[in-house]
Amino acid sequence: MPNSVTHVLIAIILVDLVRDYIIKDKRFKLHYVLIAGIAGLLPDIDYFVDYFNHLTGYTTIHPAYTHNLLIPVVILGIAFLVKKRKLSFLDKKNKFAFILLLIASGYFIHLALDFIAWDSISLLPLGKGYGLNLIPPNDFGRSLLAGIDAILLIAWLWHEEVRHKIRDFI
Ligand SMILES: [Zn+2]
Repeated sequence: MPNSVTHVLIAIILVDLVRDYIIKDKRFKLHYVLIAGIAGLLPDIDYFVDYFNHLTGYTTIHPAYTHNLLIPVVILGIAFLVKKRKLSFLDKKNKFAFILLLIASGYFIHLALDFIAWDSISLLPLGKGYGLNLIPPNDFGRSLLAGIDAILLIAWLWHEEVRHKIRDFI
């Protein structure tokens, strides 16, 4: 399965690209991109439970409860339910709905990545897992993921420098 860093990086990069090239609205601030990045980690929160399960001798639960499509779909549904009609998600009055939309996006990106790399994404909690299993769970797979992280980070920093001149903030 992808590293935590990969999940955060890819969620940040994808949402940032949507922000820069599709939405292009100044109200879509950088901190919103970070929210999607953090949400990109959420499905692996079950590792904390597993850590304590490990200590007490219970079986692991990763990824049975958190790696299913139902969770981001429900979050997305709530986002549309609480959104004020006729106003954009970027309107101040829709801040909560927009944050939910970002969380659903980050969560879905995590599941999509695990689907590509692994085979444990289900439609419902405790359902049968599916995936493409493209990254082998061995030393080669781990090195490949570490290399992907490095390339992604450099490519994104280069993009931010070209697009936003981040050097000015350092
Ligand atoms: Zn995961």
